[in-house]
Amino acid sequence: MASILAIAGLGMALVAPDVAMAGTAKANFAPASRSTDVRTGTIPAKQLFGHVKTPAPLPPQPIGFYSRGCLAGAVAMPINGSAWQVMRLSRNRNWGMPVLVEFLKKLAIDAQAQDGWPGLLIGDMSQPRGGPMLTGHASHQIGLDADIWLTPMPDHVLSRKERETMSARLMVLDRKRINPQRFTPAHARLIRRAAMNPLVQRIFVHPPIKKYLCDWSRRNGDANRAWLAKVRPYYGHNYHFHVRLRCPPGAQYCKNQGDPHPKDGTGCGAELAYWYSDRPWVRPKPKPKFYHGIPLPRPRPKRHKPKPVLTLDKLPPQCRMVLTAR
Ligand SMILES: [Zn+2]
Repeated sequence: MASILAIAGLGMALVAPDVAMAGTAKANFAPASRSTDVRTGTIPAKQLFGHVKTPAPLPPQPIGFYSRGCLAGAVAMPINGSAWQVMRLSRNRNWGMPVLVEFLKKLAIDAQAQDGWPGLLIGDMSQPRGGPMLTGHASHQIGLDADIWLTPMPDHVLSRKERETMSARLMVLDRKRINPQRFTPAHARLIRRAAMNPLVQRIFVHPPIKKYLCDWSRRNGDANRAWLAKVRPYYGHNYHFHVRLRCPPGAQYCKNQGDPHPKDGTGCGAELAYWYSDRPWVRPKPKPKFYHGIPLPRPRPKRHKPKPVLTLDKLPPQCRMVLTAR
């Protein structure tokens, strides 16, 4: 894979004037304040990456970390296939590394042929140049994350309008209970297939889905239960599951995440018990303090500090070129 720095000269020569890079003295900076902001890094990076419509014409390369990076040379997931359809086309988030697109196609085709799964509805992947998004998702920034709906694919090709308006189906009754009318063994087979793939680093599901998978695998006498370690309980994954791929070999700017290693090998024990406790869901109340047996007034709750804005300066330096390459 060609180094992204090797093509830096090309990228810099073709830099867009309104998003010129710092340090390119010869670049033609537009007088607009926007360019100053880009150079000083005060614009939130999501404003920059969230409006770019096309991929960076560079060799495919994930740069940085899943929640702090960008994507060069993205390819689009085709919106229709024999075993998949891409949803919410207006969002223009069906971009990823070629390895992600190929993984999704294969998962869709194999699950349809072997798992009794009608086909995949693909949700958000990455933006054309990755990076932070204007709405939703802290991750999905480097073309290696994809959301897959837990709603089975309908038996017809959805219109553009249907893809915008059709809602995903909720799979749980509450934070502890699955909806058994909706979540079926075919769902479990699909997630197992995804997790068994060595390209997959981890998968996020809502806690009751993890519990279902643990019970289902045990009930079936599943000989290989190591795949369960990759399936991580997490908030908000009750309409879809989220698949994260590892950094591809040779992707020198891609920052891998450590593999999950639950003590019991599956995460079905203590880890799941944690998600079934109140701890992840309820903020603990401070214990009242006493002075000579008299309760002191509670201190005022600390103001919630706003998260620091993720600006271009805080992304890997190669992301400037990814943003501006033409
Ligand atoms: Zn996701």
